[in-house]
Amino acid sequence: MKVVVSIVILVVAVSLLSLTVRTTRLGAALTVQNPSRIAAFHQAPHSNTNSVNISGSNSNGIKLAIINFDDGYKSQFTNAKPILDKYGFKASFFIVCNFVGKTAQEMNSSSVINFAGKGVEQMTWNDIVTLYGQGDQIGAHSMNHLQNMTSMPKNELDYEIGHSKQCLDAHKIYTTTFAYPFEKGKDNATIVKQVSQYYSYARSGNYPLMFLHCDHFIKYSNQTDCRTYLPNGKISYANRYSIVGWSHDYDRIAYFYNDRQMLDRFIQVVNGQDKYNKPGKPADAIPIIVYHRIDNSGARYSTHVPLFASEMQHLHDNDFHVISMTDIIYDNATNSFYLNNQ
Ligand SMILES: [Zn+2]
Repeated sequence: MKVVVSIVILVVAVSLLSLTVRTTRLGAALTVQNPSRIAAFHQAPHSNTNSVNISGSNSNGIKLAIINFDDGYKSQFTNAKPILDKYGFKASFFIVCNFVGKTAQEMNSSSVINFAGKGVEQMTWNDIVTLYGQGDQIGAHSMNHLQNMTSMPKNELDYEIGHSKQCLDAHKIYTTTFAYPFEKGKDNATIVKQVSQYYSYARSGNYPLMFLHCDHFIKYSNQTDCRTYLPNGKISYANRYSIVGWSHDYDRIAYFYNDRQMLDRFIQVVNGQDKYNKPGKPADAIPIIVYHRIDNSGARYSTHVPLFASEMQHLHDNDFHVISMTDIIYDNATNSFYLNNQ
């Protein structure tokens, strides 16, 4: 009898041990490498609750993601698009109209200001029309991607903001969304007014999640809904003309991540919504991930192709719904957003 009890105890102990080892291994593959460092990030106030369990999901709430690409780089079409196609994901591409079709040499000209896109080949109209025809969203990202929109004369501002919509229209590409170059102008009343004349929405940055009721941007705002103007007359942090995206490149540059660390950070960001999206309830939070170049150049605003592939695979393998910017709708009655399909 004593022997039998001992054997049972031994078997149970070995089983538990092997389960623990397996769980730890799987967990280690997905959890952050250096949680104390990452938890300290100013952009990640929600991150300490986001440990990933072995199934890749720690709630039954819906898991969403929106993918954005800025500046119209050719590598988005040649390198990112095939990976998106593999999973059936659609994205939003924000185009700088006067850059379309330019070669790397042409992008080096003196008329192009010194920014990350200088000297980098751009998509052609054919590429952009192809994306649009296949269900990707095209957004406007101004005519020339200038730094000084906040000090521009009215007619120049109208050209940069208004004409960039007409420029897309001329290619039969209809858009409702503008993205601010350098994220500048979202808090400037003149610019926001100009944007609102041509677009229903605008995207800015920079925060890991967009909240559909705009009420959790704790570090930046104490707003309780998404109205554009606060009672004190100032423009709110998040509103229909300041839908908040998360700059993948900004985090990598600021924290010197290698690709493994960046994948950890990506997983942490996309799982941040688990705290807010509850089972049976409409979604409340969405990560809007903003990329620039997708190539192996190692440039500052570039994501290596294998890393991008791993990130998209993570979304696919963990049952994320990759939706579009056009699925975010503003409700004037409640001054908040809702999703088209909810
Ligand atoms: Zn840009």
